[in-house]
Amino acid sequence: MAKQLPTPGHCLLCREEVTKRTIKTHILKNHQDPDGDLRSLILVDTPYSSPYWLMLSVDPSASLKNLDDVLRGVWLECCGHLSSFFIDGEEIEMTWEEETANSGKKGASSKTNSLKSILVPGHTFEYIYDYGSTTELRLKVGEQIRMKNTGEAVSVLGMNEPPAWTCSECGKPASFHYNEEDDETVLCKECSEDPDLDDCYLLPITNSPRTGVCAYEGGRYD
Ligand SMILES: [Zn+2]
Ligand SMILES: [Zn+2]
Ligand SMILES: [Zn+2]
Repeated sequence: MAKQLPTPGHCLLCREEVTKRTIKTHILKNHQDPDGDLRSLILVDTPYSSPYWLMLSVDPSASLKNLDDVLRGVWLECCGHLSSFFIDGEEIEMTWEEETANSGKKGASSKTNSLKSILVPGHTFEYIYDYGSTTELRLKVGEQIRMKNTGEAVSVLGMNEPPAWTCSECGKPASFHYNEEDDETVLCKECSEDPDLDDCYLLPITNSPRTGVCAYEGGRYD
């Protein structure tokens, strides 16, 4: 079994340091507002051990499309790939905005499906982005609480700290993936400027489980 990685992160509401394990308790303790709106907590991470996680709060009337948009905006969107939710054995396919208009596809109406029926504490479901170079996520529904209204269907409450990467060539902090050999090479700024390298294989290191994949260059918090 893979070693469990540490999962330090912080609360985006108050900047306090938390971990994937403590974020929920932190939110329950510090950010409830009895006069606020009802929200459900959702913890997002990967089905394999990784440092990446997000804590979201969603409005009960939010749609799968709202959730898809936030996951893409924060962690995933590179070239408008397809994505799907897997909920209780059912696959619900999402398409990217630009394609949606012309899509007469079956299941297109599911995009507006309310999340309400799946917002049961303890309920887990899966999500994938891109059927080629797939990024897989796991989502777990937490408590329903009242919080100050942000006007957002889906809000990001907390996330992991960007993991540190070390340059494969010189050991300094790395900023780029180099994907020519399809290996795990990462480079610091200086080493990435080596004239023998082909620029087109360089991708910035991002704080996302999609870092270094396809053409992913970062999201809302990078
Ligand atoms: Zn906080
Ligand atoms: Zn892509
Ligand atoms: Zn280097």
